[in-house]
Amino acid sequence: MPGRMEGRRALVTGGASGIGAATAELFAAEGAAVVLADLDRQAGLAGEVVARIEGKGGTAWFQPVEVRDEAAVQGMVDAAVDRLGGVDAVVASAGVAGHAEAQFGTGLLGTELAHWQFVLDVNLTGVMLTAQRAARWMVAHETPGTIVTLASSAAKLSGLGAYSVSKAGLWMYTRGLAAELAPHRIRVNAIGPGLIWTPLVEEAIRRVMADPAIAAELTERGGAAGLFGGNPLASIPLGRVGQPSDVAYTALFLSCDEGSYYTGALLHPDGGIVSTLAGG
Ligand code: NAD
Repeated sequence: MPGRMEGRRALVTGGASGIGAATAELFAAEGAAVVLADLDRQAGLAGEVVARIEGKGGTAWFQPVEVRDEAAVQGMVDAAVDRLGGVDAVVASAGVAGHAEAQFGTGLLGTELAHWQFVLDVNLTGVMLTAQRAARWMVAHETPGTIVTLASSAAKLSGLGAYSVSKAGLWMYTRGLAAELAPHRIRVNAIGPGLIWTPLVEEAIRRVMADPAIAAELTERGGAAGLFGGNPLASIPLGRVGQPSDVAYTALFLSCDEGSYYTGALLHPDGGIVSTLAGG
């Protein structure tokens, strides 16, 4: 039986790790040829993802990129087009955390400019550049396609500082792009995951635990499990943390023909956090 992404040419940023890696592997398993792009320093991890895909008979390449760099993003899209013969499925999963600083640091009043700019540059501008350059190719070549951006449940929850702002901005960018590209038969949707167990979350926990004052506060709240204690993320109605595959299947649905009536949407694989606690 042909896969749901048979014949599709996919570009996945953040493809070396977590949600991006799971999505690249799922798309390849469903028949897509995949370029996974990530920071140069992630080449080792990306190589492992490529090897896993090839081991199952799939097709994948790694392309280094810094998504904050306009020329590098254009180079990534050009390289993907060269490798794949075009691009018609994009998943922009490259992103950074930053919640820890907001929750346990200085809050919005004390947010440092450098931190603010870094989070917005990667999570918002980096995705904008990725989607824009890939979409320009699709429009110029009259190629229908799909673009999926990785927002967050934090797009609707204000407690995570610059991170929440970056994801809310990304949601609005996704809606604007969806409206603009609909006449070109390019669908653009966002995913707003809840708490998904990936290196991004592990790293956030490690960073806050390195601060003795925070570690003491967390110990009082019940250890690292209390990391999200002051935040609605603490209560997950389905009672479990999500896995990267939970999000990858959402990206698959939004990218394949079964999702063909969706554009401008924000879907929440989040165990019920947003729909039951944050007003949908
Ligand atoms: P991850 O850290 O496992 O993967 C993110 C990848 O992005 C990494 O491989 C990293 O190298 C890459 N990346 C970071 N900055 C980059 C840059 N400037 N240029 C190129 N690549 C860069 O994280 P993840 O949990 O898989 O997160 C993927 C996306 O999902 C992010 O946008 C994140 O904000 C979003 N998200 C994650 C969660 C969660 O709980 N894990 C929840 C909601 C949203």
